[in-house]
Amino acid sequence: MATARPFPKVTGGCFCRKTRYRIETAPLFCYACHCQDCQKASGSVFACYASIERDRVTSIGELDPSLTVPVPGVLREQARCSSCQTILWACGDYSPASIDIKVGTLDIPTLMEPDMHAFIESKVDWVGIPEGAKTCKGDFDRRDAWPKASLERLRVAMQKHDKAMEENKALAEQRKTTPASSDVPEDDEDGADASDKTPTAQSPDEKETDEEFEKRFKETESTLLARLEQLSKKLSQEETPEAAMQKLNLDEQPKDP
Ligand SMILES: [Zn+2]
Ligand SMILES: [Zn+2]
Repeated sequence: MATARPFPKVTGGCFCRKTRYRIETAPLFCYACHCQDCQKASGSVFACYASIERDRVTSIGELDPSLTVPVPGVLREQARCSSCQTILWACGDYSPASIDIKVGTLDIPTLMEPDMHAFIESKVDWVGIPEGAKTCKGDFDRRDAWPKASLERLRVAMQKHDKAMEENKALAEQRKTTPASSDVPEDDEDGADASDKTPTAQSPDEKETDEEFEKRFKETESTLLARLEQLSKKLSQEETPEAAMQKLNLDEQPKDP
């Protein structure tokens, strides 16, 4: 297993702060969706998502996210806080191996600027699009829009997910055919080794080599550093809120005290 090293921490959570999560790597893609479904479902004028591999998100709060399918066949599986009902993410469009995190639930949402603005035709007029930002009418095709490295990461995640599903299915079949006596709780069984665990019970990091960790670490670090640099540049160009407030106060000072 990889040795502990500092990792850029990107955390998020719900409104009541009982359900918290940490993302372990840079997202695959970030997009804003201005479609009417997203407007209705979010109750806002557009939705903003960061797509990421499902197993790269760790629950770190008092409560684990609760997974529900609000309307089977219509709405995708969602992760909510079981206390305040904030929706943290939805299952990805492409595979159960990926999820779309709601960017507004990140502690520093400004880190994730959309790589793409989709359904631009239903965007409300007063929402501006940053200069140079990519836009598209209707939905985008990830094969054209996503960086190659992200497509490859999704492919690997889908493969891993499918394999785990197959192994789980095989395990369930095996349980059905073996006598009930072998189904004793694990507590009663001394010397249970790793092979007794279900594949999903294993943390993905357990199998990660130092080399893989290094690669993931570098990817995340460089993406986040680039975003932070962009952000600080933007902030230094703009007035600070305090300066703006001061100016406003000066301008609005009553003529006759
Ligand atoms: Zn909550
Ligand atoms: Zn949408």
